[in-house]
Amino acid sequence: MNDDARPLPTGASGVYLYPAAFEQVVAGLRAGIAAMAADEPFQRLAVPPVISRATLERAGYVASFPQLLGTVHSYPGTPAQWAELAPLAATGGDWHREQRIGDLVLLPAACYPVHASLAGRELAEPVRFAVEASCFRQELTSETGRMRSFRMAELVTAGTEEHCLAWRERWLERVTDWLAGLELKPSVEVADDPFFGRGARLYQAAQRMQQLKFELRVELGEGLVQAVASANIHKEHFGEVFGFTAGGEPGQTACTAFGLERITLALLHAHGPRTGEWPDGLRAQLGLDR
Ligand code: ATP
Ligand code: ZN
Repeated sequence: MNDDARPLPTGASGVYLYPAAFEQVVAGLRAGIAAMAADEPFQRLAVPPVISRATLERAGYVASFPQLLGTVHSYPGTPAQWAELAPLAATGGDWHREQRIGDLVLLPAACYPVHASLAGRELAEPVRFAVEASCFRQELTSETGRMRSFRMAELVTAGTEEHCLAWRERWLERVTDWLAGLELKPSVEVADDPFFGRGARLYQAAQRMQQLKFELRVELGEGLVQAVASANIHKEHFGEVFGFTAGGEPGQTACTAFGLERITLALLHAHGPRTGEWPDGLRAQLGLDR
């Protein structure tokens, strides 16, 4: 097999094609995450790359990150009306001027549909989900590791505040150790999300002060450090928004997210583009010899 794992550009910034050697590493990371998660009863769910627009509106995503959201539009007209627009498609004209926003948007993070699925429940015990999704974010820059379409694996839990705090703490440590085991010693830093517009600074300061988000950062290119994973608590935000409870209070949630392309790119940066030349121990750990 060709062992050159470097992603290929597609002409659209932040969108790449991934060779088999790259995908082998991604599969190894998936298996590693699953092995770490094996001692907790995670329910595995496949997640589609779209989500209900109303769900994301309710979750506050539109208000906080309108600049990142990709919407899904489609053509509501008749074939007869389309006859007028059709010629414009061939000439790069505005064939899309009648497009209307629909009830779906592109999924920006894997955990949103999971939180939404808990609507109406009283969680007598904590619940745990292991998910992966293709995510979309309309990023403004396209340096190494900043894609518009990327895959995110997440471990998600919901329950009481006490549970979510302890769970996040434990997973932050585990993921740090796991990355160190892959010879990617991460720096662990309190972080914030890219809130947009008025109030952004305030939200970011509050997020940092409450230590809602920790990022694990690793070098992906010369002097280019990116978050390859994050460990987050959302307090009662999703419990309030979607209406689920734990211990009679609004349910709390936490998640650990892994950027599958970013971790792979960090390994490529550390060990070179040809996975066949990577150290034996690392190859074995990622199952590349099977
Ligand atoms: P929260 O639950 O707090 O909203 P999250 O954990 O669901 O956050 P992020 O922390 O924003 O989501 O992203 C998780 C991981 O996804 C990041 O640590 C990173 O590895 C990866 N990631 C995020 N944005 C990109 C991107 N533009 N390109 C590639 N990978 C990305
Ligand atoms: Zn999440």
